[in-house]
Amino acid sequence: MVRGASSVLLKPKTTEEVSAILSYCNQHKLAVCPQGGNTGLVGGSVPVFDEVIISMALMNQVESVDSWSGVVVCQSGCVLEALDQHVAEHGLMVPLDLGAKGSCHIGGNVSTNAGGLRLLRYGSLHGSVLGVEAVLASGEVIDCLSTMKKDNTGYDLKHLFIGSEGTLGIVTKLAINCPPRPTAVNLAFLGLQSFDDVLQTFRDAKSKLGEILSSCEFIDRSSLECVEENLKLKSPIEPHPYYMLIETSGSNGDHDEEKLNTFLEYVMTSGQVTDGTVATEPSRIQHIWSLRERIAESLIADGYTYKYDISIPLPHFYKMVEDMREHLGSSIIRCCGYGHIGDGNLHLNITSKEYEKEILSRIEPTIFEWTARVKGSISAEHGLGFKKRNYIHFSKSDGAIGLMKQMKKIMDPNGILNPYKVLPDN
Ligand SMILES: Cc1cc2nc3c(=O)[nH]c(=O)nc-3n(C[C@H](O)[C@H](O)[C@H](O)COP(=O)(O)OP(=O)(O)OC[C@H]3O[C@@H](n4cnc5c(N)ncnc54)[C@H](O)[C@@H]3O)c2cc1C
Repeated sequence: MVRGASSVLLKPKTTEEVSAILSYCNQHKLAVCPQGGNTGLVGGSVPVFDEVIISMALMNQVESVDSWSGVVVCQSGCVLEALDQHVAEHGLMVPLDLGAKGSCHIGGNVSTNAGGLRLLRYGSLHGSVLGVEAVLASGEVIDCLSTMKKDNTGYDLKHLFIGSEGTLGIVTKLAINCPPRPTAVNLAFLGLQSFDDVLQTFRDAKSKLGEILSSCEFIDRSSLECVEENLKLKSPIEPHPYYMLIETSGSNGDHDEEKLNTFLEYVMTSGQVTDGTVATEPSRIQHIWSLRERIAESLIADGYTYKYDISIPLPHFYKMVEDMREHLGSSIIRCCGYGHIGDGNLHLNITSKEYEKEILSRIEPTIFEWTARVKGSISAEHGLGFKKRNYIHFSKSDGAIGLMKQMKKIMDPNGILNPYKVLPDN
């Protein structure tokens, strides 16, 4: 989707080294591009021209794990999955999980305010990140690395670095609140005939599963067919127009299973769910999750993917896919929808054999206008990066964009931090 053109890549190991690099670059007005695991989907970690890449890959040390409070302090270059395995030894889990976990960095997650598969249960990183240490463009280190769950002393500046995609500072360390690791996990894979049934089943899952509901994901038939055809993965149930993955996590297997069975009996008796299976063993759970987590990878085999990550009020959620499918007709291979229905977050993907400007111009800005009409967000969790920044107006007011530009000026007066990202040209 995007291709960089940089001849310099630096790999600092300490905050002091990040500070020295930025101080030098600022004095010489050299632009920099912070890079985590490079898994972002909007081109934020890719240099546009000849920016100096600052890779955080060597800043991968866990500094402390407080098993009383669950608060973990680490450098920002820790790979999400490795950090999760580290905290697992203390009976904890990182409250964030996503398909790119084997490569993405926790600092990249914080900088994009990544959502992922369990936001429904554990909330956004604005809630679970308790503190951040960041280096400003000038090289000044800003220490907001609180480990306290409550700290109302002045403006909560850490939030400026969460989700600002490396345009206001480089995140070097963070403190994150990790919940206890669940000992009982169940995953149901369900087949449904209509989207109304999907919505009703989600509502029932919230009310009947309550505190043990840890994920609620949605896949349409076209997305599942793509994983089956292109990656040869096998669905555990017969073909359906819609599918849901409903995960429970808790500390008492018998209690959770009983609750899940009551819920399943209810949705099957009422006819909302017409087929389904439940996995409790780790290998089956992993297989079922791979049907959802590997959709993005399977789409690549079609050729070119036009990717959209949109927040939509639930009543309009699937209408967007249907309307786009009709709008694009036979000019494309596939128009499919899946995502974090529990958070109203649709991943809408369109594929064609190769990139075609004509197809793109039929998708954009129509898709953003549609989203703005129903008061959704044009980027639910991936950020704006390089690719979506000029569409920010569809989701933010002129006043809000103006204030963002002023903040950028204060924190990075020479504009060296990740230029051409997040903020629009006009
Ligand atoms: C298969 C797959 C599944 C995915 N699933 C999800 C999902 O469910 N939810 C979701 O939200 N995203 C998802 N993503 C997108 C992506 O993984 C996330 O955006 C992730 O948080 C990016 O982390 P990263 O370390 O790779 O960051 P990068 O891609 O390297 O960088 C992302 C942005 O953050 C900046 N940045 C990185 N590190 C720092 C730092 N230390 N300080 C300041 N700025 C920094 C970069 O400059 C860039 O603007 C998925 C991606 C893939 C490939």
